[in-house]
Amino acid sequence: MRLLYRTTLGLFFLWLMVGNGLAAGGADPTLPATPSIPLFAHTQHVAIDGRLEYLIEPRPLSAIQAAGPAFADQWVESSAKGLSFGNLHPPVWLRFGLINQTDWERSWWLEIGSPTLDYVSVNVYRHDRGAWHFNPPTGQLLPLETRAVQHRHFIQPLSLAPGEESTVYVRVATNGELMVYMDLWQQNAFLLNEQFQILLLGLFFGALAVMFLYNWSLYFFTRDRSYLFYVFYVFFIILFALAETGLGNQYLWHQVDWLKGIAYPLFASASFLAAALFIRVFLALKSEGGWVYHFNTFFVAYWGYATLAFLFFPHYLLIKSVLPMAAVGSLVAMATGIYLWARGNTSAKYFIIAWTFLNVGTLLHVLMLNRTIPRTPFTQYIQMVGMVMEVVLLSVALAERINRTRKQQRMAQDEVLQLTENISKAREEKLMIQEQLLEVQRQANEALEVRVLDRTNELERALTNLEAANKELSRMSFADPMTKLFNRRYFDQILASEIQRASRTQHPLSIILADIDSFKQVNDQHGHLIGDECLRMVAKTLSRQLGRSSDLIARYSGEAFGILLPATAPQNALVVADRARNAVEQINFIHRGRRIPLSVSLGVAGWIPTPRETPDLMVTAAEHALLEAKQGGHNRVASADAR
Ligand code: GH3
Ligand code: MG
Repeated sequence: MRLLYRTTLGLFFLWLMVGNGLAAGGADPTLPATPSIPLFAHTQHVAIDGRLEYLIEPRPLSAIQAAGPAFADQWVESSAKGLSFGNLHPPVWLRFGLINQTDWERSWWLEIGSPTLDYVSVNVYRHDRGAWHFNPPTGQLLPLETRAVQHRHFIQPLSLAPGEESTVYVRVATNGELMVYMDLWQQNAFLLNEQFQILLLGLFFGALAVMFLYNWSLYFFTRDRSYLFYVFYVFFIILFALAETGLGNQYLWHQVDWLKGIAYPLFASASFLAAALFIRVFLALKSEGGWVYHFNTFFVAYWGYATLAFLFFPHYLLIKSVLPMAAVGSLVAMATGIYLWARGNTSAKYFIIAWTFLNVGTLLHVLMLNRTIPRTPFTQYIQMVGMVMEVVLLSVALAERINRTRKQQRMAQDEVLQLTENISKAREEKLMIQEQLLEVQRQANEALEVRVLDRTNELERALTNLEAANKELSRMSFADPMTKLFNRRYFDQILASEIQRASRTQHPLSIILADIDSFKQVNDQHGHLIGDECLRMVAKTLSRQLGRSSDLIARYSGEAFGILLPATAPQNALVVADRARNAVEQINFIHRGRRIPLSVSLGVAGWIPTPRETPDLMVTAAEHALLEAKQGGHNRVASADAR
């Protein structure tokens, strides 16, 4: 690179010498059509724009050639076209006349305020003396030492004798955008203006540097990618502005030859790349999708490519497309912001406001370059003001976004907290309900147990009662209520079973039928109540005569009784019968002072029954015996015949 630059420099000087050589044989320079600018004692500052002529170099020319008659008709007055020639433009010659209207020799400073010109040479033709004065060429590609005045712009002191008229020929060449503006200053006025400019530049870079450092620290703490792209953006904006103002070349990269020629478009591309990335993250275009996202992707790709290409292989198409792409990109960014703002993206609102500042500043700047509006300190620096405003507003927008996100986060956290609380409350309630349920269940179980116990007791009682009742019932069913003896039914049952047993055991079984004598008469004479009393007396008396537990007495019918004597032979039964008869006869029943005589007649039957024998047989035999006793005259015992 360095070699290339040295070679270029060498060639340039060689060419200059050739040009000087031609000066001797060259024709007289033609005079500009535009009248020379008069310089008076009070002339502090003259803006040269619009008071000069230019010649687009068809091939490399020396000043003498350019000024010669060969090109006399090719010079164009600048009022016809502004001094912005665009990218990749051939070198241009500019000329204007000056005339010193004072009475003494004076020096003025010609300032060429376009720091990105690759080559600049200022040559003066003194009409009075008919002589050329060639100054050493300078430019951003040449060392700082080639500059007559060490300044970010190109400054050439010009001195004119009293009344002297000169034509200044300036040649400018660059690979970048070719635009020129020139001013003529008296040194005092230049210094005054310079102080003001330095102050403005200081403010501008100071503000950007502060924003850069501040947001870098914010990124360091928040780790939010928006901040990262934002500080990149500010960083490249600073570099771009350094390139644009010439300060970069003057102070930073005057030793870095490869960067000198490309710093301006390189940092512009990098700024646009960082801006596109910042917009992408800041406005959350990925989640938005659609055309806003695709446009952004396209511009990220384009500026990414442009940045790399300017570094390594700048080419015609790239250099030509940068300016239109910048314009279209700005408009698309604006449209994206408006579109998203309309869709309720709060960040987009702040973005639009910030972006508008930059765009308005840039627009005014471009209008000034086109000479649509005059070049004043305001129009000269409005783009910088717009940049600072944009950078500050974007930083505010970032802070607002962080704040908004934090608020949303806090709200979400609160919601989660509330939810967690609700859940734990619900869980507690559930546990309480479960406990209550368990308690209720426990109580219900207890109550149930008590009730079951009660019911069981009740049931047991009922069963006991039932048993007793059953016993009573059966007892009652076999009892004779008046005499409290067994009844006829029971007598028959037992008789049947005893016959079975007796037949099995082959023991004799005897029965006695006893009937109260002339009982009708007792009833008739003393009434039924007394009759009943007598009946009970006889029953008690008869039962007392039975000695064995197996013996059984029952009321057989009205005033007749049946006596069962198991394992008793008939002759033994006769003894029992007679003893009974005797006992009844002895009853001393007194009624109204008179004894009522009582007696019974008894029929006895008895034998060892056969297995299939029915009770009737023995009963009938006993009845016959009883009848026999009655017929025998009452109060006696008769025995059935032995079978
Ligand atoms: P005999 O000496 O021939 O047995 O004569 P009798 O009067 O005892 O016998 P009869 O068959 O003529 O009469 C029986 C009487 O016994 C009739 C009835 O008034 C009386 N009698 C029967 N059962 C009861 C009773 O439960 N209470 C009372 N008071 N009298 C009864
Ligand atoms: Mg009788």
